Amino acid sequence: MDWLTSLIWNDGKLFGIAWNFWKVIGWLGNLLFFSRFLVQWYHTEKRKQVVIPVAFWWLSLAGSFLLLVYALYKKDSVFVFAYAFTWIPYVRNLIIHRREANARLTCSACGLLATAGAHFCPECGLKLSYSESRS
Ligand SMILES: [Zn+2]
Repeated sequence: MDWLTSLIWNDGKLFGIAWNFWKVIGWLGNLLFFSRFLVQWYHTEKRKQVVIPVAFWWLSLAGSFLLLVYALYKKDSVFVFAYAFTWIPYVRNLIIHRREANARLTCSACGLLATAGAHFCPECGLKLSYSESRS
């Protein structure tokens, strides 16, 4: 177990990393960016279909922002370019998700939240209308 202890903490370094403020920013970016895959995988396994939850886009945005900040600090043009424009599809997907969520209708008969653009409740068949079931 001595090898494990020395792997975790050795020569004043945690996991062999000389920690400072910028290392925390960079690794926090890595953690957020990586965690999005776990979130997406969890939701996909839970529903047994490929799902990209809204949390995926928020984690993508936050993680890539921190990685961009770290890359700017390091003045690494390759690393900066890799994260300079990724926020565009993340923000766009968040906007589209918000619009879709706002356009959903709640069935006044059974309470099911129907998808945007649905004319009838998929559960009970009631005709849906914006005037009676907006919530
Ligand atoms: Zn219904």
